[in-house]
Amino acid sequence: MESLILEIVNGKQINKNEALKLFDLEIEDLCLAASKIRKQYKGNKVKVCSIINAKSGQCSEDCKFCAQSSFNKTDIKVYPLLDTKKIKDISEKALENVGCFGIVSSGNSLNNNEIDKLCEMFKQHKKSSHLGVSIGRISDESFHKLREAGIKKMHHNLETSANFYPNICSTHSYQERLDTLKRAKSFGFELCSGGLFGIGESLKDRVDLAFTLKEIGSDSVPMNFFMPIKGTALEYLPTMRPIEILKTLATFRIILQTPDIMVCGGREINLRDLQSWIFHAGANGMMTGGYLTTNGRDIVTDKQMVKDLDLELEA
Ligand code: SF4
Repeated sequence: MESLILEIVNGKQINKNEALKLFDLEIEDLCLAASKIRKQYKGNKVKVCSIINAKSGQCSEDCKFCAQSSFNKTDIKVYPLLDTKKIKDISEKALENVGCFGIVSSGNSLNNNEIDKLCEMFKQHKKSSHLGVSIGRISDESFHKLREAGIKKMHHNLETSANFYPNICSTHSYQERLDTLKRAKSFGFELCSGGLFGIGESLKDRVDLAFTLKEIGSDSVPMNFFMPIKGTALEYLPTMRPIEILKTLATFRIILQTPDIMVCGGREINLRDLQSWIFHAGANGMMTGGYLTTNGRDIVTDKQMVKDLDLELEA
């Protein structure tokens, strides 16, 4: 076995140069190190979350990969903020099967009226402490209202490294994303921040993102893998190879060590038969039941996969 892997297994914290070397190693060796760290911090528990696209499309931002950007010409469903009673019913039902439910809206932010409507609903929600929101760059006043309404988790992806970011978005900066996360943390939110891989970034960009997420203290790291969507600026990019995805996951576990690592968009399409390997590669969670504008896999099949691996779903 490679000496670097032996050192990692024995507790070594790696630097950026060492992290880059991980991509040259055999997947079996990487999985050994990543699994050991996952087991050390997460035991045999697996987290499962799901989301609702609460407001879809017509986003003023120009993220090149996103079906909801008004700069991209896609045929997704476009609708304003859903009726909050409907969001409440769907999320309460989903939380009978998953540990966390995310309410996600398109656009750079929700307005005050929309946030007030959501907060009214959160106050009536049976499981508001299991909800997370992903509603863009919001004001301090809105952060405060959401905390008062019982929301503990704030999702806001960094997407990629600071260096590569201008290649995928020009309408808002990386610093604005970082600032939103820092402000959320200052209001006591748990941070859920990760990225999208396979959008033309280098291995160094992936490693830089992992170290940035470690630095800001993201509690949960959603990892999405590029799926080409017709009408977006990146529709002709190829998808990632399954082994490359697993190596990226393992590298994130080895760098980040303690946060939840959740495999989200692109799992089914990109990993195909290797989906169950995500846990050997260090992930301790996954999103189930579909994504913002694309379909996923049903909870029954995902639960069976967890059971077959002798892992246990976290209540
Ligand atoms: S990723 Fe978010 S901010 Fe970017 S275009 Fe899509 S909905 Fe808008």
